[in-house]
Amino acid sequence: MSAQNHTQNCVVCSSSDDEIPLISITYKQNRTWTCFNCLPQLLHGKKDINEYI
Ligand SMILES: [Zn+2]
Repeated sequence: MSAQNHTQNCVVCSSSDDEIPLISITYKQNRTWTCFNCLPQLLHGKKDINEYI
């Protein structure tokens, strides 16, 4: 049996929630996840969430 559906990954760097805390975000009716490392880059515009959704 597999529990794959439980695993979440950062939309930017693909880190799983086994490695680093992830934050759920919703945007344009999509629900996705980003990690603590990547969130500041999204907040400060260094990465564009549109490229990942
Ligand atoms: Zn990340």
